[in-house]
Amino acid sequence: MIDFSLTEEQKALQKMAKEFAEKEMRPNTAKYDEGETFPDDVMQKAFEVGFLTSEIPEAYGGGGLSHLDQAIVCEELAWGCAGLYTTIMANALAVTPIIIAGTEEQKKEFLVPFTKEMTLGSFCLTEREAGSDAGAVKTKAEKKGDEYILNGSKCFITNGGVAKLFVVFATTDPEKGARGMSAFLVPSDTEGITIGKIENKMGHRASNTAEIFFEDVKIPAKNLLGKEGRGFIVAMKTFESSRPPVGAGGVGVARAALEHAVEYSKSRYQFGKPIALFQYIAFKMAQMAADINAARFLVWNAAWRLDKGLSIGKESAMAKMYGSDVAMKVTSEALDIFGGYGYMKDYPMEKLMRDAKLLQIYEGTNDIQRLIISREVIGPLK
Ligand SMILES: Cc1cc2nc3c(=O)[nH]c(=O)nc-3n(C[C@H](O)[C@H](O)[C@H](O)COP(=O)(O)OP(=O)(O)OC[C@H]3O[C@@H](n4cnc5c(N)ncnc54)[C@H](O)[C@@H]3O)c2cc1C
Repeated sequence: MIDFSLTEEQKALQKMAKEFAEKEMRPNTAKYDEGETFPDDVMQKAFEVGFLTSEIPEAYGGGGLSHLDQAIVCEELAWGCAGLYTTIMANALAVTPIIIAGTEEQKKEFLVPFTKEMTLGSFCLTEREAGSDAGAVKTKAEKKGDEYILNGSKCFITNGGVAKLFVVFATTDPEKGARGMSAFLVPSDTEGITIGKIENKMGHRASNTAEIFFEDVKIPAKNLLGKEGRGFIVAMKTFESSRPPVGAGGVGVARAALEHAVEYSKSRYQFGKPIALFQYIAFKMAQMAADINAARFLVWNAAWRLDKGLSIGKESAMAKMYGSDVAMKVTSEALDIFGGYGYMKDYPMEKLMRDAKLLQIYEGTNDIQRLIISREVIGPLK
């Protein structure tokens, strides 16, 4: 049976997220976009309403939301401000490997603190020479007695400059490539960790993106997450559940752009009438609405599959790819509807378009999503 209706609880959650976006995010977007400072005040409020811990199971003090619930929330938060949404969602990305691969002790030690006070985490995979080719990480973890010694560096890490916990992917066996990768739980105040460059970005400027250096960082062996050599699988499984929320973010950004375009097209007069009455403009907006709906259904389908424990690689990649591509297309066309005003910072369109771009890049570029989808679509060669 197919049922697209939301439960009463989901409607209430959607309303709560929309209200948060309206009251706490939208009034702050320009400030954080211009200053690129860290939004402590908004994150404190996001923590208080539970958005920073919503994916943590209730047994560890979190919200225990389903993937579909998360997708609904993400759309609203990205509608409010994509940069603030990214800061919030980076926490989900950081705790998911612990939820997937952590032992009971690790869950108690590392998840519970997120639920006690406003705490941020980072998922540390990307390196200068290992981006799309994530299995090629050079950061090394050498076992010595009951410790691992970590050396190397990570780049483009969301929340990197403000996180208390890093989930670090490092090689424990460089000979084995991706199969030699392991994951570690590393408190950010551990000796030997330094934060490098904080990136100056085109969009999502309310989020903190940092370089991190590890020099002879000692990690207790008990902080190995999952088994040695299973880190790449943990990272990929994490992406399978984090990509639909990126698609949902794309839907939220696109929806915001369409709403602004509709409103503007009714009040902007050219040739003696509102531009909404020019069929070309009206048809463009009709197409945007259809694209947004299609993206939302891909996201909901992927989230639903995750909740049901069904296979998800292709569907998760589709949700991320399509949702973010729709965000890019819709923001660009909605900006066109504003004419020259769309290009000005006084209007919301240029920020939405800058923000849409990152959704196509992080958590695996959309080319990598196409690679994942194509492998499943084509299957083995005869
Ligand atoms: C603002 C921001 C925040 C981020 N946050 C995090 C984070 O929190 N944690 C983290 O670990 N990483 C994070 N990243 C890193 C992000 O996931 C990578 O930037 C992304 O995966 C691409 O890697 P790259 O930048 O090295 O590009 P490259 O891998 O160098 O890719 C360059 C180009 O080549 C294409 N390409 C590469 N390989 C292939 C292929 N096989 N087939 C077709 N095309 C290909 C890519 O699609 C792209 O167009 C973040 C990045 C940004 C910009």
